[in-house]
Amino acid sequence: MTDDEKKPPASATFVAPRAAPRPSGPRRDFSIDEYFLGVRQKNRTVLARVLTLVESQNARHQILAERLLTRLMPHTGGSARVGITGTPGAGKSTFIDALGVYLVRSGHHVAVLTIDPSSGVSGGSILGDKTRMSALSAEQHAYIRTSPSAGTLGGVARTTRESILVCEAAGFNVVLVETVGVGQSETAVAEITDCILTLLLPGAGDELQGIKRGLLERVDVLAVNKADGENRTAAEVAARQYNNALKFLAGRDAHDAPTVLTCSARERHGIDAVWEAINRRLERMRGNGQLTHRRRQQNLRSLWAMVEAGILKSVRSHAAVNALRRDLEKEVLQENLPPEVAARRILEVLGIDGV
Ligand code: GDP
Repeated sequence: MTDDEKKPPASATFVAPRAAPRPSGPRRDFSIDEYFLGVRQKNRTVLARVLTLVESQNARHQILAERLLTRLMPHTGGSARVGITGTPGAGKSTFIDALGVYLVRSGHHVAVLTIDPSSGVSGGSILGDKTRMSALSAEQHAYIRTSPSAGTLGGVARTTRESILVCEAAGFNVVLVETVGVGQSETAVAEITDCILTLLLPGAGDELQGIKRGLLERVDVLAVNKADGENRTAAEVAARQYNNALKFLAGRDAHDAPTVLTCSARERHGIDAVWEAINRRLERMRGNGQLTHRRRQQNLRSLWAMVEAGILKSVRSHAAVNALRRDLEKEVLQENLPPEVAARRILEVLGIDGV
């Protein structure tokens, strides 16, 4: 028996690669070729390492991740990218567990990624750790990635966008991106996915108030979860109320209005109908070119968002700007100087004309 054969698999769902990269120590960096092959062979150990690389703030890791993503690029784009949002307790993880198992059993390969808006604020995590999707994590054709919370929401969204590409290159044809519904995070998730499903709780009245208009304009499918036991009727009433409210939503034409459904993640009913609604939308978007358009626009916005972030970072760390900064900020705060003038002075020291 070789050393490799003696080693237990990393998890019950470990997929042994044909040409497995063999690290000589626990954290040796693989070569780009090794990473590339490992991802393409869906080697979970390598996949986890690559996603860690993508999430890393370390400049060397970022360069490596960029080179690898460039290599993987021709193998990306082949998944249904679905954002799943909802307030804490709406049943996201129970639902994703049920949906994921349903999809895997229907022949799909499913990756689950999380965007946690508590990142960087508390250092904690609203989404908590995923001992949650236990049925799905036991499936061979599923992969669940809970990213450590670090950085800004925008930063987390960027790394999640890259993680989606890695999962696609590994052959996952459905990528579910989970986030908590707190307004901002839907905007972030809409920027990296093809469509959005929001889970709601029965008891629509209050929730409808709480749901931001902006969110409703982005959501494609709304599912009132927990439509079971004594909540069943309340869930159906809520779904009708949402449906009525959505009819009056400006900015979306009738065929584009969100689909409203009820389901029970716990009892696993209505899950297939939710997926069908998502799939119908995706099919329509594929057919009329909207999907390609949406992804292209997302890429362009992402390009410029990163350029802007890079410029801002370098401006903020520029010695000449720092020399001026305190005084200018003070003058602006005390209303001695209009912000326009202060901005112009900063741009001038950088040799840039105009605001
Ligand atoms: P998350 O915070 O949105 O991820 O919500 P969870 O999936 O952790 O679910 C929160 C609570 O609601 C848990 O106690 C679940 O067991 C329960 N729950 C989730 N889905 C359902 C459902 O369809 N019906 C009922 N009755 N309870 C559910």
